[in-house]
Amino acid sequence: MPNNDTQHMKDRFGREITYMRLSITDLCNLRCQYCMPEEGVTKLRHDDILSVEEIAEITAAAAQLGITKVRITGGEPLVRRGVIEICEAVSATPGIRETCLTTNGILIPQYAQSLREAGVKRLNISLDSLNPDTYRSITRGGELSEALAGIDAAIAYGFNPIKVNAVLIGGVNDHDIVSLAALTIQGIHVRFIELMPIGGTSQWAGERFLNDSAVLSALPQLEPVGVDGVARTYRLPGIPGTVGLISPVSSHFCPSCNRIRVTSDGKLKPCLHSPEELNLRGLHGEELTAAMRSAILDKPQRHHLDSGYSRSSRSMTSTGG
Ligand code: SAM
Ligand code: SF4
Repeated sequence: MPNNDTQHMKDRFGREITYMRLSITDLCNLRCQYCMPEEGVTKLRHDDILSVEEIAEITAAAAQLGITKVRITGGEPLVRRGVIEICEAVSATPGIRETCLTTNGILIPQYAQSLREAGVKRLNISLDSLNPDTYRSITRGGELSEALAGIDAAIAYGFNPIKVNAVLIGGVNDHDIVSLAALTIQGIHVRFIELMPIGGTSQWAGERFLNDSAVLSALPQLEPVGVDGVARTYRLPGIPGTVGLISPVSSHFCPSCNRIRVTSDGKLKPCLHSPEELNLRGLHGEELTAAMRSAILDKPQRHHLDSGYSRSSRSMTSTGG
């Protein structure tokens, strides 16, 4: 458990920081158009990526500072060699109550059992379309049937909750809103996320931005439920799963942001869209904890996506989406 003086680690704007997103690789087995370039992805050298031991040490320091939830992401976390050891190390860290993972789902059938045994209980699966051609086009070659097999495996192995995240892409998946929302019939929570202009694909994203009010127009029968983290939630009448709207662009949720990020090469980023980052590699013990404490204190007040671009020059894959 965090000790008493760090239990309520707040930044200087009074936000309690309890959630860390950890990118464990910037590689991926898909090439989503809004996230990665088709070619020319620079592969970091093995030594440039945080080792399992470094991740364990950073997680322990974060827990000392009051982090209770860790999301393992990337890139595609399930392509990282050692992903299961990483999940085990994170979930075994005293003070970490929740270890979750965000994935495109393709490799879930292969890893579901080991992930459960490693202490991962919650999965977020990214899926932007239920039309095989649209899915193939968005992901540049991905097979929808493989992603759906991943969702089936997640259900079969008892991950709970399962959230499906769909990025809204104007002119590309507007017609998928209704079919994606129908996944809530199976108890899955479906969240629609506004496309953010970030990294090398920001121009592409800027041209295809779709406000999340498109979801409310496509599904007028949605009933408001409440708020779940950064999502405003709704429900189709009588259906178990919820439909969430996450609007980083149209209504930024910075005032209630409770998260920090650690990049695959070991930089702490207190804000996804700000250039500030702090190198954690080579720091140990009290030096590591003190550095993380000061970066959390200095978390920027808000992002400036409303200016049309992210001030971070990193891609989503290295920052950890
Ligand atoms: N590969 C995994 C996956 O796709 O779930 C994890 C990493 S991915 C970067 C994490 C999330 O970031 C995905 O849900 C993806 O859709 C989202 N994402 C990537 N680029 C984005 C952008 N420009 N705007 C909004 N969401 C984005
Ligand atoms: Fe890969 Fe996820 Fe980015 Fe798609 S969104 S390219 S699956 S990291």
